[in-house]
Amino acid sequence: MGKADLHIHTTASDGRLSPEEVPALASENGLEVIAITDHDTIDGYFPASEAGERIGVEVLPGVELTCDFNNRESHLLAYCFDPEDPDFLQLLAHHKKARLDRIEWIVGQLTQQGLDIDKNEVRAEAAGGNVGRPHVASVLVKKGYVGSAKEAFIRYLGNHALGPIQSYYVSHEEAVERIKGAGGATILAHPGVLYSREEIEQWIDAGLDGLEVVHSSHNYDQQKKYREMAEQHNLLMTGGSDYHGDGEGYLRNFGVITTSLAQVEKLKQMTRQRKKISV
Ligand code: AMP
Ligand code: FE
Ligand code: FE
Ligand code: ZN
Repeated sequence: MGKADLHIHTTASDGRLSPEEVPALASENGLEVIAITDHDTIDGYFPASEAGERIGVEVLPGVELTCDFNNRESHLLAYCFDPEDPDFLQLLAHHKKARLDRIEWIVGQLTQQGLDIDKNEVRAEAAGGNVGRPHVASVLVKKGYVGSAKEAFIRYLGNHALGPIQSYYVSHEEAVERIKGAGGATILAHPGVLYSREEIEQWIDAGLDGLEVVHSSHNYDQQKKYREMAEQHNLLMTGGSDYHGDGEGYLRNFGVITTSLAQVEKLKQMTRQRKKISV
């Protein structure tokens, strides 16, 4: 039975491999279907899809959308939407700008703490991709403020260190609605320890289609819990490695933390149906 990895990052956001490189690595690791799920951008989808076509790896449209869930930044995976839907592309453009403004705010906080860092250094680190805290972390490592990205998150960039981050992402309800408007499926990313059962139910009330049951950060009990919740609420189940590059232990999960093609088929069927209804 074939397998798929539905959670992969590239240089279009904070991953290290280019979208063109990912399908070949996927094929080497026994994956038949993948989704590039960069943070708030689908720029990686088109080049990855073309590279995948050449070598027989199917690439599904995907994105990891950041949204505001009860004043907390939250990650929602979207799949099999129309990648040319104007309203959805407008939302991604809004989030690209929101990311830039947010990084500027974070850089301001660090400057106030006496660190010598400039937003243009962070933008250069992102090299045209969507900016995020990992790019700030790279600058802090290069400048010797910290020894690793992990330390950067602990000391400066994690939610504890920064406090409530000022950001302008859309609400979780709006995120769900707009993904569905583009014919896509909405899957809660790496729920892990992030939400209580009541909060997951709040997501379901907002129209969530599924849970990312299998993820590199989930232990067996978490997988079991989310599988049971998905079965109970008749939700889709997906899985993915959240591969960001070969540093920091990510590679070992590539081709290992996966989902079955049967689940992929359910996802496709549902979004095909949704597109029929919405046109
Ligand atoms: P942002 O997109 O700016 O909110 O940054 C979130 C990203 O930072 C995540 O997708 C991870 O790639 C990375 N990240 C989050 N927490 C950590 C951490 N503790 N150590 C290293 N990277 C992290
Ligand atoms: Fe990331
Ligand atoms: Fe995430
Ligand atoms: Zn991710």
